[in-house]
Amino acid sequence: MMEEKQGKYKFGMVIDLDKCTGCGTCMVACASENNVSVRTDESDKERSIAWMQLFKITNGKPFPQTEVSYFPRPCMHCHHKTPCVSVCPPTATQMDYETGIVSQIYTRCIGCRYCQAACPYHARYFNWYDGYAFIQPFPKGMERELSPEVSVRMRGVVEKCSFCHHRFMRAKTKAYAEGRREIEEGEYITACAEACPTQAITFGNLNNPKHQVTRLSKSPYAFRLLEKLGTEPKVYYLSTREWVREMADNYRPDQLQPVGVKKV
Ligand code: SF4
Repeated sequence: MMEEKQGKYKFGMVIDLDKCTGCGTCMVACASENNVSVRTDESDKERSIAWMQLFKITNGKPFPQTEVSYFPRPCMHCHHKTPCVSVCPPTATQMDYETGIVSQIYTRCIGCRYCQAACPYHARYFNWYDGYAFIQPFPKGMERELSPEVSVRMRGVVEKCSFCHHRFMRAKTKAYAEGRREIEEGEYITACAEACPTQAITFGNLNNPKHQVTRLSKSPYAFRLLEKLGTEPKVYYLSTREWVREMADNYRPDQLQPVGVKKV
C-alpha cells in the first residue's frame, strides 16, 4: 500500500452525537458562511444544496424502546485514496497534504458529476442554478449578506464542504503577520463548530496530540462512517450508544459471516 504524504496539519472534526439535539444550527451557519444557495422552493430535495446535512436515525424498536439520534454530515475529507479525487477527470478536486483538506476548484469543474457518484457519503452537490443569481436582483441590503471570502458558485459545477478553508487562510495570515509559523488551537475552527449551541462539534489538528480533537478521536466511543471502505475520513463521531455505532458502518451481524460459511 502506498504511504500517504503527511503535512504539518491534518485538520479534522469530532462530532459528539450524544450532545447533538438535531437543532440544525450547524446547517444554517454553514450555508450562511459559505454562500450556499437558498431557493424559493426548497421542496425539490434532489436539487437543493446542503454542505452540512443533518440526518435522523432510529434504533427501529417500537415504543417505548424507541431511540433516535441525529447526525450531522459534512464532507469527510477522506484521507486515503479519496474517492472523489481519484475519479475527477479535470483534477478539479484535490487534497492539500499540508492541511488534509479536500478542495474543489469550481472554474476547473466540467460538471460531469463523476465525483458525486464516487462519494460514498453523498457529500457532493451539483449546481442546477447560478448561485444566488436566481434570486436576483437582491432585495435591498441582501447583497451585503454574502461572505466576501467565499466565491459564489455558478450553474453546472459540483460543490461541497471545504472545512471553511477561508478561515484557515485568515488564521494563517494573522499568524504570519504576528511572526508565527504555527496556528494555535482554536484559531481556526469551522462555522458549524463555532455555532453549535451544545458544543457537540470539535475541530482541530489531528496531527497534534495536544489538541482536544485528537484526544476525542482516540476515545473508545469514537467511530467513523463506513470504516470498512478504508477511506480514512477525518470526521469522527462519538456515541456511547452501541446501536448508533453499529449503524455507522452498516454493521449487521449476519454480514460478518464469510460467504459460504454456515452459521453454527
Ligand atoms: Fe470526497 Fe465524498 Fe470523501 Fe468528501 S466525503 S472527500 S466528497 S469522497
